[in-house]
Amino acid sequence: MDRATITHYSLLTTRSRKTMSANPIHRRGIVLILSSPSGAGKTTLTRMLLQDRGLDLTLSISVTTRARRSSEVDGIHYSFISQKRFVAMRDAGELLEWAEVHDNFYGTPRAPVEEILAQGRDCLFDIDYQGTRQVREKMGADAVTVFILPPSMDELRARLERRAEDTRDAMARRLENARKEIARWKDYDYVIVNDDLQRAFDDLIAILRAERQRRPRRDREIEQFVAKLLSE
Ligand code: 5GP
Repeated sequence: MDRATITHYSLLTTRSRKTMSANPIHRRGIVLILSSPSGAGKTTLTRMLLQDRGLDLTLSISVTTRARRSSEVDGIHYSFISQKRFVAMRDAGELLEWAEVHDNFYGTPRAPVEEILAQGRDCLFDIDYQGTRQVREKMGADAVTVFILPPSMDELRARLERRAEDTRDAMARRLENARKEIARWKDYDYVIVNDDLQRAFDDLIAILRAERQRRPRRDREIEQFVAKLLSE
């Protein structure tokens, strides 16, 4: 092969590799759910996953009745809505799942998720165990669920204090709820202890890659390939 051919060949393989992993048209989309008690590092891991463009993950933006924190942007972190609007959306069947968490309502709008999955792309959810159960009931094997644990309760408390985004009351409530949430770890497909952020991130990527390769998600793609293979 001359130089130009090699360059062309490597461009082609790079492109087809990208198409396989980032834009898998023939694969069923995955709903990747991350749950954890507040302060276990889930938000940071979510951001790292979204920043890795090659992974082509789209975040499902929840609606919530919680007050916006100063660090949050409406329409990016959440859509902040009134309780009246939340109830209207829920009663009209516009939410794929919903739950009351720390005295506020949270829910996942159905339409954007359906649109992403219809394109054969994957959707990332940051929701609690109550929502996870509902999504699993509705989506079956299309849902892949991961629970993130803090390395210790002391570390969880320290992270919440460092964040200093909540009132003392709200923080005490979050710590109390954390114990209940942690007890739900067996509801999940995978559990990651976040004692090292980079390792936790690498584990998440390994889970995503393996799940994307699961045979039932790729049946159509493989069927076509095997038909061609056997016709040779
Ligand atoms: P925070 O108020 O700290 O942003 O979130 C509190 C909890 O609500 C977190 O555990 C988060 O995963 C969960 N949560 C956020 N959005 C949703 C949602 O749309 N549905 C459900 N069920 N839980 C959510």
